[in-house]
Amino acid sequence: MKIKQVTRYTCDFCKKNMYSKRGMARHELRCTLNPNRKCSVCALQEGWAEDHQGLAEIMALIPPHDLMDFGFDWPNYYENTLLPKMPEIRAAAANCPACLMAAFRLSKIPVPLVECFNFTEEMQVILHRVRDERHEEYSLIFGA
Ligand SMILES: [Zn+2]
Ligand SMILES: [Zn+2]
Repeated sequence: MKIKQVTRYTCDFCKKNMYSKRGMARHELRCTLNPNRKCSVCALQEGWAEDHQGLAEIMALIPPHDLMDFGFDWPNYYENTLLPKMPEIRAAAANCPACLMAAFRLSKIPVPLVECFNFTEEMQVILHRVRDERHEEYSLIFGA
């Protein structure tokens, strides 16, 4: 029997772990539970940063809650407190799904319960748009 010892690196912020030290360093920088994260989704889009606020500013707009409290009325909080604030929260994040995700997670908001926010779908939209924009740029340069 052979025993192989391997080093695993665990994220300082979430539970993710991996074999690659460099990969983990990259993940930690972008981890949505890292309060000082660098947003790679925002970096994809030029011009976004202008009206984009920092994570702390976005989080400050999320109304406080007592989710840990037994009997906390989530539907009431969601409908009457969080939902009316969403346009403001989205504007502060320049609608970046990764920044919204990070702000919710760091504020201990159960993201799957936020029905008006669909991370996967919103990411798809952005990735498609970025791809189309790049394609357009290449077409202009290379006439393809
Ligand atoms: Zn992490
Ligand atoms: Zn972002």
